[in-house]
Order: sequence, then structure tokens, then C-alpha cells
Amino acid sequence: TKVVHWFRGKDLRMQDNTALHHASDLAQSSNVPLICVYIYWPSEESWHGTSPARVDFMIEGIKILHKELKAQNIPLVFLNADKREDYVSVFEKFVQEHDVSHVFANYEYEVDELRRDIKFVNDMSDKVHVQIFHDQTVVEPGTMTTGAGKPMKVFTPYHRAWLSLIKSEPELLDTHPAPKANPQSFTKNLKPLFDTAAPKPSKDKLFASDEDKKRIRKMWPPGNAAAAKRMKSFLSQIEDYAATRSNPAKNSTSRLSAYFAAGMYSPREALSELRKYNKGSADFSEGSAEKGVYAWVREIVFRELYRQTTMCTPHTVMNLPQNLKFDFVEWEDDEEGWEKWYKGTTGEPFIDAGMRQLNTEAYMHNRLRMNVSSYLYCNLLLDYRRGERYFAETLIDWDLSNNTQGWEPGYTVFNPVSQAERNDPDGDYIRKWVPELKDVKGKAIFAPYARLSKEEFEKLGYPKPHVDWKETKARAMERFKRDMKDA
Ligand code: FAD
Repeated sequence: TKVVHWFRGKDLRMQDNTALHHASDLAQSSNVPLICVYIYWPSEESWHGTSPARVDFMIEGIKILHKELKAQNIPLVFLNADKREDYVSVFEKFVQEHDVSHVFANYEYEVDELRRDIKFVNDMSDKVHVQIFHDQTVVEPGTMTTGAGKPMKVFTPYHRAWLSLIKSEPELLDTHPAPKANPQSFTKNLKPLFDTAAPKPSKDKLFASDEDKKRIRKMWPPGNAAAAKRMKSFLSQIEDYAATRSNPAKNSTSRLSAYFAAGMYSPREALSELRKYNKGSADFSEGSAEKGVYAWVREIVFRELYRQTTMCTPHTVMNLPQNLKFDFVEWEDDEEGWEKWYKGTTGEPFIDAGMRQLNTEAYMHNRLRMNVSSYLYCNLLLDYRRGERYFAETLIDWDLSNNTQGWEPGYTVFNPVSQAERNDPDGDYIRKWVPELKDVKGKAIFAPYARLSKEEFEKLGYPKPHVDWKETKARAMERFKRDMKDA
């Protein structure tokens, strides 16, 4: 018999992988081989709109994993499923053909993924033993409940409860060891399994040019070792995180999101490194930990809560807003505005800078994500789901829970001029991404059309604002009120 670990797209690492660790333990104690399987379903990428940057990042990461596992004499078998419906049956066939006794995997919390697991467990329960583990978060989604026993949805109480749980149960941050090697005596038996080919992206998921591919790969080297290195370097500057995290020109955040999203690095790995930095203490609360440490853990807690939200309010991953009233809003059909938004030519420097960073780096600073999303569904009054999809199609760190929660519509309309003045006070971020404005002096950089003379403005070759911010803010508020009144 054999024990199988089934890799999904969110746990692509050997280190601190909960299900893989338990699979390895069982294989070792029963003296049977451990094999790993990854099922590649190219149309899944189109289904979710996954960006070429993320597909490439994952495939390159899987190749690294393949090598690391091989060094442990553990095969990583690639199975292909052409159609969505085949996904489970392809794996079931493999399990039966290869005399597999146990299948281990880590949970994915999205609805379709949970349904897939239910089908698999139902179909296979009399043939193999299936065990699925919580792995994506430090605290299991669904376990943080209100006094009434309902899963918490509100950040502040969740954050407070999370910090106190980690303080009292610091072992939650302990990491699992990587799997042990299969004994050499198994090699002959496993040989054919070592030979399957790593997946290739479908044609529409290839980078537009080799230059794009090179640039992105250099910026985002895949794999657990690259992530650990990034964490180490981030720790050397975490002191400044609280003060500078909202200034996109400072570039002071960890840029670990792509690694967390693909599971190339786990939050336990990150937080156990942070615990060392925090003098061995798992008390990350305000006042006890350094400001930067407290502020960074707070972001990790958002990520944790958003997985709980996905699991407990599944409509949020089925194209519906958390606040269902927003589904009644009549959105505008401003195609020109849409094109200007995604190309970064709206005439609002902060918005354009953000979108151009996204289109170049497959990444955007969080402050800009907040601004460009608000601009899209409040000022352009375009359906927020179009922006959500564009992010999925472009970001290297696309993560369904973080993206849907990030795009959750609300009533706050960000003012891109005052946001830029506060968060990019020297205009350096705008100058970097909007070169038409690089020579604009002083505060005019934040609103060149309003603050320069007509003549000076026309020389720049930069568009004037597509919409009037104040008027469109008022329009959005009226529209939301009108359409949600009876909802
Ligand atoms: P750091 O500041 O170093 O934070 C550390 C980690 O905490 C991040 O890597 C991330 O995993 C988590 N985190 C940080 N901010 C948030 C947040 N606001 N919500 C949830 N988790 C957070 N994040 C994604 O990972 N994928 C997405 O697809 C995504 N889409 C977003 C869309 C919108 C409209 C908004 C407003 C936010 C979105 N975010 C998304 C959250 C956030 O912008 C990114 O996680 C962050 O910018 C990543 O940079 P970093 O790794 O340097 O973050």
C-alpha cells in the first residue's frame, strides 16, 4: 500500500505542511512509501481568471517542490484533468490503480473546493482513508466565535481574541518538520512515478513577452527558501513598518503575499520567526510587542479572519457581496472610464500610479488597492466585481479570500488627492509610476489639472480627470441610498 499527500494550489511547500507532515509520519510508522500528487486542471485558471504571473509563479514553485521531494526519494506525480468534472475521477482512478490506502490533504475553504472534497470523500470512503487538515491559518477558521456561538465577522473583537489565544497557546505557532525521506529500498517500486511531467500553463496564461516573464520572475522568485529569505530581510526593517507601511514610496511591507497565497510560506513559519525576533514571546499585543511587530501581526490576523469569513459566509465567494444590499445597486456602463481605470489614465495621479504599478509588477501596495477599488465602484460607479476580476487576472498574489474581502463594497469614498498628500507626501510614488508628472513641483503633483495653469498642464501630456470627484461621490451616495432603500 501507499500513503498519498494531495497537493493543492495553496500548500506548495514541504516545510510546515500539516497534511504532508501527518502523511509522512504514517508512511514512516507503517513502513510504506509516501507519494505526492498534484492535479493540474488548466481550465481552472481561466475559471478563476488567475493571472499569467500567478500561474507562472506556481508552476515554477511546483518545479522546485518536485526537486526537493525527489531529493527525499518522494515522487511528485502530476495528473492532468481536462475538464472540471474529471478532476475528482482522475484522482480516484490513480488511487485505485496504485494501491493507495490513505489520502491526506489540506483544506481549501472556497465553496467549489469544499464540494470537491465532499465528493471525493463520499466516492472513496469505502476504498481509502481520507483525512483533511486545517493548514492555511494559525487559528482554524470557524473556531473564533461570539458569545452567541456564531463565527466572528468583525475585525476588532476577532483580533483581540486571536492575540490572547496565541499568547496563551503559543504552541499554535510551532511548525511541522518536513517529510522524512522514503527509504532507498522503495525506489525500484516507485520509479515509474518519478517520470510524470510538470504542468505547463495554457496558452492564454503565458506572459505577453519574455521581458515581462524575466522581470516578474526576478521580482518574485518562487519557493519556500526565497520566502524565508524575504522574511529575514523584512525582519531587519520591521521596526519601521508601523510608521511607513501606508507610504507606498517607502516600499516597507514584506511583499510576502504571493508566497502566502500559493502556500509557499506558511503563517506559522512567519510568526515563529517573528516570535524569535520578539525575544521568544508570543505576546504580540499592543504595548507588549514593538509597534512594527504589533502592526504586522494585525495584517496577518486580517488574513486569518478572511478565511473564516469565506468559510462561514460562502456567498462572498459566489460573486455576491457580504452586505447583500450592494447587490441591488444599479451600476453604470462607462466603458471609457473602465478602460482609463485599468490602463492607469484616469487623470487622478494616485489612482493611475497604483494601476500602473499593478500592470508592471503584478502587485500593488495595499493603500493603492484601497484607493483604486473605491474609485472604481464609487466615482466611476462601475460594478466592483469587474475590478475584483481584473485584480485576479493581474495580481501575482491573488487570493480569493483577501481579494473578495478587499473588494467588499462600502460607503467610504477615498479622496485620491488627500490620500496621496497624506501617504505619498513627497509625491515620489506618483513620480515613479507616472513619468509624465516627474518634473511637477510641490503639491501640484497630487492634482495637476486643478493646480497648474492650463498652459503648464497641457505641456505634460497627462489626461485631465475623467470625472469630477466631488460630483461622483455625491452620485454614488444617492445611488446607494436609492437602490438599497427597499433591499
Ligand atoms: P504586508 O503589509 O507585509 O502584510 C503581511 C501579510 O498580511 C500579507 O502578505 C497578507 O497575506 C496579509 N495582509 C496584509 N494586508 C491585508 C489585508 N488588507 N487583508 C488581508 N490580508 C492582508 N491580498 C492578497 O494576498 N491577495 C489579494 O488578492 C488581495 N487583494 C486585495 C484587494 C483589495 C481591493 C484590497 C484593499 C486588498 C487586497 N489584498 C490582497 C490585501 C493586501 O493589499 C495585500 O495582502 C498586501 O498589500 C500584500 O503586500 P505585503 O505582502 O507586502 O503585505
